[in-house]
Amino acid sequence: MAAIPSETAPKDTGEKKDAGERKTAEDLKVVRDLKHYPSDHRRYRYLELQNGLKVLLIENRRATVSQAVFEVSAGSFHEPDQYPGLAHFLEHMVAVGGTQKYPEIDGDDKFIAAHRGESNAMTSAEKTRYVFTILPEAFNEALDRCAQFFIAPRLTQKGFAFDDSCIQRELSAVQHEFSLKVPKDVYRYSCVEAQTTNPKHPGARFKCGNRDTLKESEMPQILEAMRAFYHTHYTADRMTVVLESPHALSELTHLAQIHFANIARAKAQVPPLNKAPQYRESDLGLFIQLTSVQNNRSLNLLFILPMQRSPELERALSYINLALGNSEDGGLFATLKQKDWISDGLILIQYSDGDYQPQVLFAFALTEQGVLKLQDIKQAVFQYIQFIRKQGMDIRLYEEMRDREKRDILLEAYTFNNSLFRFLDNLKFYPVDKFFDGSMILDSAFPEAMIGQILDELTPQNMRQILTAKGIKGNKKEPYTGAEYSVERLSELKLQREVQVMAFKARTPQKVSFPAVSHLDVPADKFRRPTLVYSAPRLRVWFSQDHHFKQPTVITDCYFNSSFATETLQNAILSQIYLSLITDELREKHDSSFAAKNNRLSAASNSKGLMVRIDGFPNHHEEAFGILLDTAQGLNVKLADFEKHKVQFIQAFQHHMTEGPIVHCKEIIDELLDHHNYPNEKYNVALKGIQFKDLQNFIHRML
Ligand SMILES: [Zn+2]
Repeated sequence: MAAIPSETAPKDTGEKKDAGERKTAEDLKVVRDLKHYPSDHRRYRYLELQNGLKVLLIENRRATVSQAVFEVSAGSFHEPDQYPGLAHFLEHMVAVGGTQKYPEIDGDDKFIAAHRGESNAMTSAEKTRYVFTILPEAFNEALDRCAQFFIAPRLTQKGFAFDDSCIQRELSAVQHEFSLKVPKDVYRYSCVEAQTTNPKHPGARFKCGNRDTLKESEMPQILEAMRAFYHTHYTADRMTVVLESPHALSELTHLAQIHFANIARAKAQVPPLNKAPQYRESDLGLFIQLTSVQNNRSLNLLFILPMQRSPELERALSYINLALGNSEDGGLFATLKQKDWISDGLILIQYSDGDYQPQVLFAFALTEQGVLKLQDIKQAVFQYIQFIRKQGMDIRLYEEMRDREKRDILLEAYTFNNSLFRFLDNLKFYPVDKFFDGSMILDSAFPEAMIGQILDELTPQNMRQILTAKGIKGNKKEPYTGAEYSVERLSELKLQREVQVMAFKARTPQKVSFPAVSHLDVPADKFRRPTLVYSAPRLRVWFSQDHHFKQPTVITDCYFNSSFATETLQNAILSQIYLSLITDELREKHDSSFAAKNNRLSAASNSKGLMVRIDGFPNHHEEAFGILLDTAQGLNVKLADFEKHKVQFIQAFQHHMTEGPIVHCKEIIDELLDHHNYPNEKYNVALKGIQFKDLQNFIHRML
């Protein structure tokens, strides 16, 4: 645990109230101490201040930094129509423009950086977040500085003129963020999506902002609009703050009171958002084609559900994701891969911030052949949906999800990655005493009826199809990015054709049993440094015990030392193809058991040879390792597999060339530092010349 200087040293008062707390207790409307899972060592307290501000405090004695997230429930959806991007621009100005108490431009960032912290801010459709981490001894001042964003930023002060240099700079920053997005297919896709949905819904807006929507010539009016936005939306009763720190709960309570009690609550009510549906009936059954600028080939099938978001719906959708989205043999994705129509695919469940329509997205990366087989791919999707529907709901899979969840809960107590953000989201949707659990399964009943209802909604009539590929000639132009696209309404006849049956040996996913997770008991002072525990002529095993994070997992890194693996550029490429063939095979044949028993498998090659990592629970490490070695040795490489991977590498290279300068800079540095890192240009030329027999010879030598 970090040492905390005396100024803000947590007094370990337990549940007793310290002097500071008593002094300002009248600021508190609600105080509740919350219980999480027994494995979680953190302590929680929920507060509501008199001004309506909600605060979640997390005392984490093991944390070495303090962190805070400030969230305002307003974003691009709340902007005035005439200034798209205003909420984003305001976020920039608030974060760097200084405050009445700390007027220096960038002063808060400098303060945070000087105390080994980091800060960031982001604006989305319905929320704006300001986030920072910092050393615990500077938490007090950092909170004071950040609270001033919501009390008196310079932007709202008299005399703050539009010729202030930081306005120019931040306008450039917004324009720059926009210009980085324009050459990306995913961004163009989201803009086309906005253009082809209900214009009355705020989702149809342009969200980022740029120099065309935030014109310099209109800056005085824009500043006025920003102030009005600030005074309406940046109000205590629309804010939630989460603090996590090694400080005691009593001390955190005190900090929250002294810094946040002065944040004002606006008198005026915020007008409710337009609840027009984002997707009208006329926005469904569409086939949209978008020209790719990055040489991507993808097919997205987006289903819009008519139900409202609820914990039961979320659980049912998680089940559907597992049942339809498995990558096992006989499943939808494995079948489409075997036919060489897709190179990858997944299902995503999407919710927007508000209570808008939940969505199920099937996303496919298409092969060259796949672009010509769209009809067949869609038929396979509908056939698999019907197959899963007819098979009936499998409670065993639901139990598997529950087991997985229990394991994740236990793990989260060790890692607590991003749990601050999850807690923030949950605080919005669930009552205070339920927010830890959110949509978790725990002991809730199997939502069989709901699963059936959702599957019935996955029809061609409820679907939007979006094809992204190079060379598509669109007759429309998206106004902000210039993306070319076309929209076709599919006739009833065409939609029916989507559900015709094709030959396809469908299988349901297999249930996997999970290993019990236990705490590892290791003598405290052993293996603090990597220790050689086994040595034979061709094998050496080193072990090191982690005494800090104490996670119940094991990482096994296995290095196959062989300079041959990357001796030449050709070998370096063949190593990568070999490793991706092995990982592919493992995914298809052992996905569920491998993924369930061992969280992750990764592989890489470097100047010393090949490295394979297994990262997961110790119970089945040995078994997993056996599977891995058997797969590597017994790999039966076919010409078609080789060709497929070669094409994927070439595509990845072309895609890589469209990345920004920072990516290429890093690559040059890597190349200079390690001469086995071959430059990308040469790599691409060599890749094209590689033949199937080269791979066969290479594998033979490696084994
Ligand atoms: Zn920004």
